[in-house]
Amino acid sequence: MVKKIVVASGKGGTGKTTVSLNLYRRFSMDGEDVVLYDCDVEEPNDALFFPEKIMIENKPVNQLIPVIDSEKCQFCRKCVTYCEFNAIVIIPSVKLAQVNSDLCHSCGACSVACPFDAIIEKPESIGQIAKYDIGFGQGLLEGRLQIGSSMQTMLIKELKNEFPEQGSLVIYDAPPGTSCPVVETVADADYVILVTEPTPFGLHDLKLTVELLDELEKPYGVVINKSGLGNHETHEFLSRKGIEILGEIPFSREYAAEYAAGNLFENVPEEFETVYQQITGKVGHHLAEL
Ligand code: SF4
Ligand code: SF4
Repeated sequence: MVKKIVVASGKGGTGKTTVSLNLYRRFSMDGEDVVLYDCDVEEPNDALFFPEKIMIENKPVNQLIPVIDSEKCQFCRKCVTYCEFNAIVIIPSVKLAQVNSDLCHSCGACSVACPFDAIIEKPESIGQIAKYDIGFGQGLLEGRLQIGSSMQTMLIKELKNEFPEQGSLVIYDAPPGTSCPVVETVADADYVILVTEPTPFGLHDLKLTVELLDELEKPYGVVINKSGLGNHETHEFLSRKGIEILGEIPFSREYAAEYAAGNLFENVPEEFETVYQQITGKVGHHLAEL
């Protein structure tokens, strides 16, 4: 059975992508048949770190948006009653019948409900999903949201459905935050790795993500990135809540410069390798217990 890990963080800039990519690399060095999904569809950047990558597949993803024919519409508002997402505006006095595509979830209920055949569905692009050969492991799958689209959750769902899990281990690099796209990414996870940094902002967002994961009843552990910066409040919080620290990645100015230049896998400090080994060991142990 394929095991699924999510790498999540309460906010951006904590090192979630670095951790995802390094875990992909470490697990594949350990002989795991691992595949990486970049679910941060608003800003997918995992692929940037593989200059030799080869795109194997690239598919457009469309959303079916209802369009109301105002000639046929009788302004009966039945579609409004059926729409759970308040995406339809009908104002009979001015003969206005419109669908707000930002709110529409393409469920199709309004088209079925309309007694006058006034609704047709038109495809609208929400982005693309792509598959890359990155030279090792099973490869990288990526969702890329159309600029201006608000359909992150739908695109993540499509990414997972279109490329069903292969190999023995899946890593989802989640979007930052705690909103619907994160919930969608975490929904089918066996284990969540929460990346944080030991600063007041980091702790604030960590607490929100911990609340979310407790609510979703997902098992998780924490990786403290940029360890050595900030204060001890994060450690105190984790200890008070009994949350496991999977590893602490020390802050290194030299390596931060390598990362900024896109050289994620070059000149990795020995101490980083040791921490990643420790993390994969602990996560592997948790997965084996499932
Ligand atoms: S397709 Fe569903 S969500 Fe979209 S407008 Fe119709 S009923 Fe509402
Ligand atoms: S159900 Fe059909 S006819 Fe009635 S308001 Fe909606 S689009 Fe118009």
